[in-house]
Order: sequence, then C-alpha cells, then structure tokens
Amino acid sequence: MKLEEIRSAEAELLIGTYDRTPLAFVGGQGMHLFDENGTAYLDMLSGIGVCALGYNHPAIQAAIDAQSRKLLHISNLFFHEGQAELAARLTEITGLDRAFFCNSGTEAWEAALKLARSYAALRRSEGRDLGTKILALEHSFHGRTMGSVSTTHKPKYREPFQPLLPGVEFVRFDDIADLESKFSSEVCAVCLEPVQGEGGIRPVSREFFAAARRLTSQTGSLLIADEIQSGMGRTGEWCAYQHYGILPDVTTLAKPLGGGIPIAAVLCTSEAARAFSPGMHGTTFGGGPLACAVAIAVIDTLRNEKMLAHIKETGSYFVDQLMRLAGRHDEIAEVRGMGLMLGLDFSHAEIAKHVANQMLERRILLNRTSETVLRFLPPYVIEREHIDQTIQALDEVLSDSAPVAGSLVPGQGARA
Ligand SMILES: *Cc1c(COP(=O)(O)O)cnc(C)c1O
Repeated sequence: MKLEEIRSAEAELLIGTYDRTPLAFVGGQGMHLFDENGTAYLDMLSGIGVCALGYNHPAIQAAIDAQSRKLLHISNLFFHEGQAELAARLTEITGLDRAFFCNSGTEAWEAALKLARSYAALRRSEGRDLGTKILALEHSFHGRTMGSVSTTHKPKYREPFQPLLPGVEFVRFDDIADLESKFSSEVCAVCLEPVQGEGGIRPVSREFFAAARRLTSQTGSLLIADEIQSGMGRTGEWCAYQHYGILPDVTTLAKPLGGGIPIAAVLCTSEAARAFSPGMHGTTFGGGPLACAVAIAVIDTLRNEKMLAHIKETGSYFVDQLMRLAGRHDEIAEVRGMGLMLGLDFSHAEIAKHVANQMLERRILLNRTSETVLRFLPPYVIEREHIDQTIQALDEVLSDSAPVAGSLVPGQGARA
C-alpha cells in the first residue's frame, strides 16, 4: 500500500487518536528511516526516545532471532530465566532493590501509583500516619490510562475523562514553597520526572528535587521518579536522578528499555516492595521471554559499547552547537536538557511549527512539544556528522525567514 492508500484506509478504519505526519516508513538502518521510495530521513526522535540503538542493530536482531526459536510467552504463572537476569542488571544500574515488569510506560506508572497507595495502607496498619494524597508537578506527563492521566497536568489530556483519580494535587514546577505548603502526612507519594519530557525538556532544579527527597523521607512517603523518557542512559547516566545524587524510592523505566520491543519496569526499594504480595498486581504479557531477552541485549550493548560516555560526549557537543545557534538567532529563547534529551525553546509557537515543518522538508525528523519547544531524542548511536547536519539545517531554516512554498506538511507541526 502507498501512503495515500494507507491514509484513506486509516481515516475510515481507525479510531481517530492520532494526527500523523504524512510519511510512511518501510525500513531503517542506524540513524535513518526509509520511506517507500527509498528516501532516507535522519531520525532525531527515535520513535519518541525508544529506538536507542537506532534501526536494525545486530545485537537486537540476534536477541529476537535466538529467543524467537526458544519461547515467546509463558505468562507469569511460571518461571523463565529472563526476569531475574534483567532485574539483576536493572537493580545494579538504578541502585534500587526490586523490579516488576510490564509492557508500557503508563502501565509502569500505574503500578508505581498502586504501590504508593498500598505502601501507605501497609504503614497505617503498622501504626504510621500516612494518607492517600498524591502530589505531581505542573506540566508533568505520566501517561494516558486513568491513574496516569490523573497525575498528568495538561487539561487537554485530562478533562474529557473526568472524574479522575481523587486525591491528586499539582505543585508548581520547581516551587519549593508550594511543595512544602501542599505536603503533609496526608501525602503517600511525591511524583516527578527528573527531566520533564512532554512538558518541554525541563530538568527540575537540584534544590526542588532535594526538597522532595527531604520531605518524603521525613514522613516515610514515597518519592517516585518517572524515568520513562529520561532513563536508560538518555541523559548520559543510567537514570537522570543520578545527576542529582538523589535516590528515589521508586522509579519507572520504559521507552528505550526494549530498543523497540515493548517492555517497561518499576524499580523500588526492598522497603517499598513490601507493599505488594502475590495476587495484588500483575500482567499477562509483562516480562515475557522475548521482551526480557531483548532488554538484556540492549543493556549489555550499551555497556559493551561504552554508550553512556558516548551520550555525554555527543550530548555536550550538541548543546554547544545549539547554544551557538541560539547566539545567531534571536527567535531561540532557550536551550535545555541533558545528554541526548534536548529542547530548543522558541519565542513563539508559530516559529517552532515553521521550523519543524522545514526540518521535515530537509528530511530530518524531530518533534514539537509544549507548543514552542523542538525536542531532540536521537538514537544513542548518533555521531557528530548527524549533529552537524541538523545544526546546519536549523541554521538555514532560521536564516531563511521567507515562507517556503510547497511545504510537505502545510500549516502543521511534526507531531507524534
Ligand atoms: C512516554 C511517557 C510515559 C507514557 O509511556 P507510554 O509507553 O506511552 O504509556 C510516561 N511518562 C513519561 C515521562 C513519558 O515520557
């Protein structure tokens, strides 16, 4: 099927949840995706931070191939070797003690919220004073299912689905006084993304993160760090919280964990893990043999290829180039981010939209989030030449203020 056929078939057959960019891909290699005509696109988004090793990585192919000849699924009624092997790696790299596996980011976040409520109930049964309130941050994004969307700030994502989970309150981003005023022993969890992704690539301040850790430790409530986008090496450390020297009680991992195969994980302390006993939570597909084998291959490849150092190095080169670009173009208000999780904040949404469209014309894939922010989440296998190509294209687009005729996507941003 050609793009136009796919589009019209989808328009009739699918529930209308997506506003897709009119491109269809049939293959990929390394940093590039190929459309049906064999045209290559430089991918600076990696399927929203998922394809960490780029496309067609031999380690992922080998893991899928080998595991597909053994076992794909057995359910969580029985044992297979993958979950313990993967948990051993994840506990080592996160500094936490225990793991639970599921299939997507929002599922991991739901499990973390359930863990927090259940842990508070356990502590109450042990005589501690701990309530059921959950604090989350303004501009947060934690997913689309009912619990996750209840802790997600954007009204557009929340309002159509009310009533949502009761007991959730939002704290102003980086506002310690607001956090302190809303915090009490009524709170069972403080939730944050160490670097907000959908919210516009915003790292929380050291002071705010430390205040959240201090307050939750005082009452014994849980500090939950959502590392679904920022984790697994994206920022140059395994988890973004490691840049802050703070260990949360619970963290969630997903997007890059399976290199494109769906898998997610909740990691927590032994203390918090007491909140779940057999039967309280579970999943049919979660932590299956295939997904575990691939996630193990992803982690081993990141280690063997010294990828964290590469992310730090290419990330700092990328930031330097973006800062220089910002020095040449007043339309750029701010450059933010860590490692290979970067955002270019423009003074107006219209400019960000125009630049996103023009980058697509130049066959470079990126994404606009939070209206004014262009988001870069490239595969970790990125090299300087890809950064140079991206910067040069941005420079051209910003220097050429004249509106370009025959835009590939007239009047529409590249959205995921
Ligand atoms: C993407 C994302 C989620 C949701 O993950 P899904 O796999 O889409 O359910 C949750 N939290 C953060 C920080 C994310 O970036």
